[in-house]
Amino acid sequence: MNRREFVKYLGLSAPYCQWLAYRMLAAQGALAFSPLFAGEAGAAPLPGLIPVTELKHWSTPDYTRVSIALDKEVRFEHHKLPNRLYLDLDGAHLKPGVKDIAIGDGLLKTVRIAQYSASTVRVVLDLDSIKDYKVFTFSEPFRIIIDVKGDRRQEISSSKEVIETAQPEPKALERSKPGKFKPGRIRRIVIDPGHGGHDPGAVSPYGTREKDIVLQIGLNLAQKIRHELGIDAVMTRSTDVFLELQERTAIANKVGADLFVSIHANASLNRAANGIETYYLNLAKTEKAAQLAAKENGTTLEKVSMLQAVLFDLMANYKLNDSAHLADEVQKALYKKAQTGYPSVKNLGVKQGPFYVLVGATMPSILVETAFLSHEKDEQMLKDPGYQDLTADGILSGIRGYITSLSKIHG
Ligand SMILES: [Zn+2]
Repeated sequence: MNRREFVKYLGLSAPYCQWLAYRMLAAQGALAFSPLFAGEAGAAPLPGLIPVTELKHWSTPDYTRVSIALDKEVRFEHHKLPNRLYLDLDGAHLKPGVKDIAIGDGLLKTVRIAQYSASTVRVVLDLDSIKDYKVFTFSEPFRIIIDVKGDRRQEISSSKEVIETAQPEPKALERSKPGKFKPGRIRRIVIDPGHGGHDPGAVSPYGTREKDIVLQIGLNLAQKIRHELGIDAVMTRSTDVFLELQERTAIANKVGADLFVSIHANASLNRAANGIETYYLNLAKTEKAAQLAAKENGTTLEKVSMLQAVLFDLMANYKLNDSAHLADEVQKALYKKAQTGYPSVKNLGVKQGPFYVLVGATMPSILVETAFLSHEKDEQMLKDPGYQDLTADGILSGIRGYITSLSKIHG
């Protein structure tokens, strides 16, 4: 879906959307106008300034992403010059150890960071050849993300140099049942168990943690994908470690994944809520979907509505139709499998929501909510290794259905 189709889909006029996005960005301080050159650099950091804690980058075949992490949200502005893109972070100070990065990937030469004035940190991206860029934010912790696109003059070795946090399993693919199933153009699938490390995700009244359940399901699913489909599966995490949301899609883009599946377990204040649902990235159609996105994004409803206002810009490369199709196949197959062990399980269907973890993914990508940890019966189910196995089987069968339907369409 291109921008015009998306706007039409919303039933709004383009200028209205742009105005809305503008207003939301202005409210975030992203468009605040202030003099280009602030005062002289001070000697000691002023009290109350927010530390800039990390500067990172990822080079993927499609774009280069730079992330600036801070302890708290700050106001910032960005400016583009012919050979540079720079950001001024207001009320910030640079933590010792945060240093310039030499990139040299054909899009960016370097990223430089410095305390520009007593209360301003300036980040400068030295451009090689770029066509387009986007600046947006993530929260908890607050990060400013800059995605830069263009025609790269040099190749990025997408499969060799895997990000250190991705743990690809041995490549020995056992192509069982050759001839029976043809993976077609789907060569690699990234499985993303939600949360991890200091982030437990949803926790049941009895202490069952989402991060543990979804890791079990994810590891099981990856193995089934390798053995039963003969397709490479890469885990964003295969242990109990924390990964930032934007790192997860960056891994998928970097390893050249053809599909991305994020696995979660739901929770609701309404203890009666239960069932299975599958999401793809889009504006939330219901308050419930927006609330779930806020929870999975680790942010507030207010931030979700800000994200929604700029979502159509962030979705430029999102495979909307393919993702909806994949979500459909997975939800259908997952519900069918789950029912074989738990006949009373509820089918909540395919839904859409503004999930950060799907933003920036360039391949069909979905988020599966396997059941509710806040619901007594669902929790029992999620804890049961038998149900975890059925869930992995169900998602696998949905992926198989998706791939099979692709080969029918494309011959
Ligand atoms: Zn989750």
